[in-house]
Amino acid sequence: MSDASLRVALKFANSKGLEALDEPTGKALLASFGIRVPAFRVIQDGEDMASIVRDLRSPYVLKVVSSQIVHKSDFGAVKVGLKDASQIAECMEAIRASLGSKGIRADRWLIEEMAPAGLECVVGGVIDPEFGPMVMAGIGGIFVEVMGDVAFRICPIDRVDALEMLTELRASSLFRGARGRDPVSVECIADVLLKIGGDGGVLMTCMDDMDELDVNPLIVAGNSAIAVDARFILRKRA
Ligand code: ADP
Ligand code: MG
Repeated sequence: MSDASLRVALKFANSKGLEALDEPTGKALLASFGIRVPAFRVIQDGEDMASIVRDLRSPYVLKVVSSQIVHKSDFGAVKVGLKDASQIAECMEAIRASLGSKGIRADRWLIEEMAPAGLECVVGGVIDPEFGPMVMAGIGGIFVEVMGDVAFRICPIDRVDALEMLTELRASSLFRGARGRDPVSVECIADVLLKIGGDGGVLMTCMDDMDELDVNPLIVAGNSAIAVDARFILRKRA
């Protein structure tokens, strides 16, 4: 899809009253703003797995695409590190059976390349009723969930704002490689924050059609930052 037709897809999904964009559409929309996402394919039941994964690099990640699921891993519906098409097909059957027993239907499946291991960050934003678009950054796992260690700024932000947001996180020493980790580039996280919250970024451009964006995680390793999950919550209509 072209960049313009992706915006149309967002408007269309919104006008149909859907709650969220599906993950592949969300990722395509992020990619249209220059944010790196893993190479992926979407498959329907009955398609030939081997030909679909042929031009993806293993190991693969398999995920369910279902409008009934918000957190896929809560349902065991994400499998990483798969070696080949037959392993993917096996996992798909296991996930389908387990979801089926809970009354959940897989709409489609997402198969993608694995991002290199790195620091899992959280980026995104909200459209605040009072302040308008606000961009958000944090470090994944307990830092966001338990400690609420996140930074927000009103959009549009510039590079100085983006770097300040990262410095003000209580766990910011992790960027420098604390606790035996490899250091990661804050500049490349700032690049992503600008593509989300800067002038002409995702939030400024799509604010009329969305309420919230969650990229959890953005996996950062050295100088690369890859958005491996994307959830666009659409604007709630009165
Ligand atoms: P959930 O809906 O549960 O948030 P995610 O798509 O975020 O599902 O996947 C769960 C976890 O699996 C991520 O936090 C990440 O650790 C890992 N993961 C998912 N996709 C990839 C990928 N393409 N490369 C590497 N790790 C991944
Ligand atoms: Mg996620």
